[in-house]
Amino acid sequence: MSLVFKSEKELSKWEYQAKNPNRICSVEGCFDLGQNMGTKRADGTLVRRNKCSKHHAEFQANKKGLTSTEWANSFHPYLKYRKDYCENIDGRLGHKCTTTIVWSGQLDTDHINGDPTSHETLGAAAMQTLCKSCHAYKTWKYGDGQTAGRKTLKERKEAA
Ligand SMILES: [Zn+2]
Ligand SMILES: [Zn+2]
Repeated sequence: MSLVFKSEKELSKWEYQAKNPNRICSVEGCFDLGQNMGTKRADGTLVRRNKCSKHHAEFQANKKGLTSTEWANSFHPYLKYRKDYCENIDGRLGHKCTTTIVWSGQLDTDHINGDPTSHETLGAAAMQTLCKSCHAYKTWKYGDGQTAGRKTLKERKEAA
């Protein structure tokens, strides 16, 4: 049996798909556009991934044994520090958290000192994971909005 190569017609269709700015996701049954890579070819056409952004994320996450959200967060400047529980279970805010976490959306990544830029210099040490409830309490108790860090950020934004 000889090898079966793509016919001229098939090949041109395939090449067209690969270069087509409107190429669709290669996952069976998905008709979403391939993820926009944010770049253009010399001829001005848009470069798209062979998978839509959702399937690309699922595929990459799967390879690393993560959920799509965990995978996406791993590129975030500080969401990557998020743990899967509320760190106030140790009573750091003055009471011990008893919230049952069943979904990652219940958790926030909080800048401990209230300075939203502190992760840039301190990394993981600047952050703690709090559930929505504890985060709201902390913000009220310490008035994160009033800290020097927020003021700096505001000034930085205004200057930019
Ligand atoms: Zn898809
Ligand atoms: Zn909590």
